[in-house]
Amino acid sequence: MEEISSKGKLFVISGPSGAGKGTIIKELIKQIDVELSVSATTRKPRPGEIHGKSYYFVGMDKFREMIRRGEFLEYAKVYENFYGTPKTKVLEKLDEGHDVILEIDIQGAMKVKKVFPKGVFIFILPPSMAELRRRITGRGSETKEVIDLRMSKTLGEIAYVDQYDYCVINGQIQEAVNRVKAIVIAEHSKVSSDIQGILDEFEEEK
Ligand code: 5GP
Repeated sequence: MEEISSKGKLFVISGPSGAGKGTIIKELIKQIDVELSVSATTRKPRPGEIHGKSYYFVGMDKFREMIRRGEFLEYAKVYENFYGTPKTKVLEKLDEGHDVILEIDIQGAMKVKKVFPKGVFIFILPPSMAELRRRITGRGSETKEVIDLRMSKTLGEIAYVDQYDYCVINGQIQEAVNRVKAIVIAEHSKVSSDIQGILDEFEEEK
């Protein structure tokens, strides 16, 4: 598959449901200049979720049509619903030089890794299984069946952590936000083609 090049950096954040990815990202967006990609999903909105902000809530027919038209960078079935990352918006933002965050599941992240190996892959972990169960239960919107399903899925998901570049344990929220922020800053400080222009100038001064 063709490798995509871009001016901005793509950060892909995954982790078990209840690890606190959403909270970390919300804080991060307040503190640094990154854009969160809004996914499309066939899931029904939860109370308080806004169409076009939390997700694009679409029906199965529309989702299928988007697949057929090649509108997704990746898509996956997560639990009983489909989720997909709209391709054009993400690529446009990256091309304009903005950093973009995808908050997607592991299957989706592995697909993105294939087309976008330069992406930075970050895994968020809860501090313990007990804390994870407490967080999933505390959300109040899920049935016991759904909670049990998510807990067992988590055990399988944790095995994928070595496919990621970074792992952040979310014990204390501000600490976790600081760590993700540090990753973004470090990635922008890497010795890469981004600094070639400056190096060329130094070379000319010699
Ligand atoms: P939730 O229904 O709780 O909002 O999300 C369920 C799972 O779907 C989470 O693990 C979330 O990261 C994942 N997800 C959200 N959007 C996308 C997407 O566009 N693609 C993929 N592959 N997963 C997504």
